[in-house]
Amino acid sequence: MVFEEELMSLVRCQEVGCALAIEEKQVIQVGSMLTITGTCMKGHCFKWSSQPRCCGPKSRPAGNVALAAATLLTGNTQTTLNEMCNVINLATIKKSSFYEIQRDILLPNIQKMYNAHIEDIHKAYEYLPTKVTVAGDARHDSPGHSAEFGLYTIMDTINDVIISSKTVAVGEKDVPNSYWLENEGLKRCLKELKDCKIHIDTLVTDRHSSIAKTMREKYSDVRHEYDIWHLAKSIRKKLVKACGKHQEIRPWQKAIINHFWWSAETCNGSYTQFKERWTSILRHIVDRHKWICCEEFHQCEHDEVDMSKLWLTEGSDAHRALQVIVAENKLLKDLEHAVEFCHTGNLEVFHSMLLKYMPKRSRFGHECMIARGMLAVIDHNLNVHREHGTLSDGGKQYKLEWSKRSKQFVVKRIKEAKDYSFREQLMIGVFERAVNGDKSRSTLLDPESTRLIEEHKKSKRGEKPSKEEAVAGHMSRMK
Ligand SMILES: [Zn+2]
Ligand SMILES: [Zn+2]
Repeated sequence: MVFEEELMSLVRCQEVGCALAIEEKQVIQVGSMLTITGTCMKGHCFKWSSQPRCCGPKSRPAGNVALAAATLLTGNTQTTLNEMCNVINLATIKKSSFYEIQRDILLPNIQKMYNAHIEDIHKAYEYLPTKVTVAGDARHDSPGHSAEFGLYTIMDTINDVIISSKTVAVGEKDVPNSYWLENEGLKRCLKELKDCKIHIDTLVTDRHSSIAKTMREKYSDVRHEYDIWHLAKSIRKKLVKACGKHQEIRPWQKAIINHFWWSAETCNGSYTQFKERWTSILRHIVDRHKWICCEEFHQCEHDEVDMSKLWLTEGSDAHRALQVIVAENKLLKDLEHAVEFCHTGNLEVFHSMLLKYMPKRSRFGHECMIARGMLAVIDHNLNVHREHGTLSDGGKQYKLEWSKRSKQFVVKRIKEAKDYSFREQLMIGVFERAVNGDKSRSTLLDPESTRLIEEHKKSKRGEKPSKEEAVAGHMSRMK
């Protein structure tokens, strides 16, 4: 970083043997580049720029291209870059040039890198065993019904690598509103995998009812499992509510959830076992540990227990409230899709990292959303197998973290530093493109989809009024 005054003190005529001061200096700023011109007392012309220009047709200053690229590749935004620079009066690129560089150079390069990356991953499956278990989930750009975009990702649960990801926008074919983003994303991912001849054996998702329907009707050859963690979470939520009304349940809350996990883990893929093990809690809790009414599971598997003070009374309000939760029809039905004890846990890890590339407070265009999703996938896949970090003396790195859940400090492993070499590779591609002036745009957007989205927006919002008229109308109402 160079301050202007310090820079000016260096400005001297560069003609051999001259070195006189430059008079009538003119300073021109092009984004982050500064150009100084003038003449010395002997009349020698002086011209100096703080950056070389890329020799492409637009001859953009190299620093401007680098700044725009670094901003996008690190998940930052044009706004944060400019705000930061403005505070310290640091010369930076204009909004319009940022978006021009993004469109002409960055997006096509990100697309190229992502395509090569995902193709590599797909190729590896030619040599892998045929049955693949994957987890799938969507993340929307904003919560609730206001979402405009959804990113659906499918992750191999064995190696936690993302093998397909698709960004879907409201208004595209079969996506009349945000509810359908997830469904459409899943369909596109499954199509991609099918086209690449990757055979999905089991798909794990949360309990989105439209997803269940799609899987049942369109992909009956794929086993559909529900994420066990989501199921446990929904039971816990209901239990917490019931505890408010029935104090007697409270001491049992943790044990009931543990029992759910135990039932899932020990059912050996059998729906009957899972269901009977899970619902047996309703008998155990009223001090009945043997029964004959079930098909396969007839007694508790614990040793002698004395909980005399805690047993509920059979048929009491608390017991009946618990029955409503444990033996709820939908839940029991859903257990059929949870016998494999699968979870989507590592997708959640990806989704929290995704926020780095798609900060919730920022809005991005369609093309940019797709590219940012691609960057996040590359970042995830290249860093998913990081090892435990080592110290300079060879020891392993740990940190102490406060756990809200267990209300104590817990020891956590620190992973080795992330590998961002993909950014360096991208920068090389970016400069190659800036120099050779390749004019081809990215093909991230499908023209037909873009037309549909525009039409959909028009049908929802009506024609956009002229700004002048709208402002005039607003002003006259204010009077
Ligand atoms: Zn001179
Ligand atoms: Zn028991």
